[in-house]
Amino acid sequence: MRIGFGYDSHRFTVGRPLILAGQIIPFGQGLAGHSDADAVAHALIDAMLGAAAIGNIGTLFPDSDQRWKAANSMELLRSAYELVLAKGWKLAQADITIIVEQPRLSSHLPAMSHALAQVVGLPDDAISVKPKTNEGMGFIGRGEGIAVMAVALLEAR
Ligand code: MG
Repeated sequence: MRIGFGYDSHRFTVGRPLILAGQIIPFGQGLAGHSDADAVAHALIDAMLGAAAIGNIGTLFPDSDQRWKAANSMELLRSAYELVLAKGWKLAQADITIIVEQPRLSSHLPAMSHALAQVVGLPDDAISVKPKTNEGMGFIGRGEGIAVMAVALLEAR
């Protein structure tokens, strides 16, 4: 078995939808980024790539490459997972923490887990997604952005 850790952060900006784990979350702002800026998908990608020791999202999908401009990050997740599978590993379980002050995400968590689980072919309860605030501290506390941390456990296929 292998364990990987992923981290991602994105800045809030106006004029873009807020997309987390492929779900459009009603909010006045979205996240800035080259792709759709889905920080949940990005953190999970990096956790899995890290566990398999095959680089990170930046090496796989560089933001200098126009192919990934406005990319659907759930499709990037699918592509990254194919590499993990090709390397002889499969995802057993993942745990994801979203750190954000606003919006409140509780009502969206089941849909996020389901969407991620569908991509990797696991039951929903194998992909835990849980939010917390940063108690008003720092860039997250000021509402400037979002951070996501993910841990992934891979097992041999
Ligand atoms: Mg990112």
